[in-house]
Amino acid sequence: MIKLMLKFEQNFPLSQITTLQIGGPARQFVTVYSQEELIEAITYARKNSLPYLVIGGGSNLLVADAGVNKLVIKNEIEGITKLVRFLKVKSGTPLQHLVDYSIAQNLSGLQKLTDIPGSLGGAVYGAAGAYGQTISDYIREVICFDGEKIISLQNDECEFEYRDSIFKRNEFIILEVIFKLEVGEVKKLRKEADEILEKRLVKYPKGIKCPGSFFKNLVAEKLPKEILSRIPKEMIVYGKLPAGSLLEEVGAKGEKLGQIEIADYHANLFINKGDGKASDFYTLAKKYAVKVKEKFGITLEPEVQLINLPPIF
Ligand SMILES: Cc1cc2nc3c(=O)[nH]c(=O)nc-3n(C[C@H](O)[C@H](O)[C@H](O)COP(=O)(O)OP(=O)(O)OC[C@H]3O[C@@H](n4cnc5c(N)ncnc54)[C@H](O)[C@@H]3O)c2cc1C
Repeated sequence: MIKLMLKFEQNFPLSQITTLQIGGPARQFVTVYSQEELIEAITYARKNSLPYLVIGGGSNLLVADAGVNKLVIKNEIEGITKLVRFLKVKSGTPLQHLVDYSIAQNLSGLQKLTDIPGSLGGAVYGAAGAYGQTISDYIREVICFDGEKIISLQNDECEFEYRDSIFKRNEFIILEVIFKLEVGEVKKLRKEADEILEKRLVKYPKGIKCPGSFFKNLVAEKLPKEILSRIPKEMIVYGKLPAGSLLEEVGAKGEKLGQIEIADYHANLFINKGDGKASDFYTLAKKYAVKVKEKFGITLEPEVQLINLPPIF
């Protein structure tokens, strides 16, 4: 029995809430604004044997044109509490709010994550990062719902790796995150963030319809030696071999399929130029991932979450 006033919608077009503006309908859709509502929605789904998917800002999703036969729960549970250097942050808080808040409070450790769209929950799920900083760097504890009860995981229990966490392998829903940040200096932090923002606006101009980088970069030290020996050293950035460089080598830049275009300035950036289709996006991405595999022996892995689409490999 639903006790709270949850507003369920049927056949909700997910293209309305993804940054790519692509995605067919969710069988059911609900937005939640409190932890109680989130747990109520999950409990409702579980009782009715209805699969569910909790999302945040929809900025890392490629949803099939056919949509998804699930209850999609959009998390808008926001709030930040500060205790000296500790911040306790609700998972639906936009990451940018957290970044700006931490800077304003003279706290260092999140400023390089400026301009990454989406919620804190999505960032923790995918271990989001930029310019050598990662959301997990200063996380102390993640409070989550395991489907039945609220539990807490310490940082080392979250299995954070490059764009990876335990949350990609379990069904836990992230509720709140506790950070312990360094003391910083507001002017210096703001300058650092603004310089990054300036660079990012070149790659991601305002209003661009994309899900960020499509494929994960490769951690150089994890690549087999014989593959690494064939890669020019200058291609390695922050210890990563950018997927974009490999895609560029196989001619992906500027390529198109339907309304989907690979940026002519960045081969790992797939843009919806109008009324794009997930099927075209997927076909184009797969085509160039196959070329990379043939040329370099490297299997690219999507960073973006594929919803109701088969794995690329
Ligand atoms: C223009 C642009 C630039 C980007 N730049 C970067 C970048 O520099 N670095 C980077 O790392 N990423 C980048 N991204 C990708 C994206 O913004 C991040 O991955 C972001 O953290 C996703 O958050 P979200 O709330 O939008 O997640 P969503 O897209 O809503 O969901 C992503 C995944 O997280 C899961 N999830 C969401 N919330 C929860 C929760 N509370 N509990 C459990 N699971 C949850 C969802 O089920 C889904 O599987 C960029 C995207 C865009 C559009």
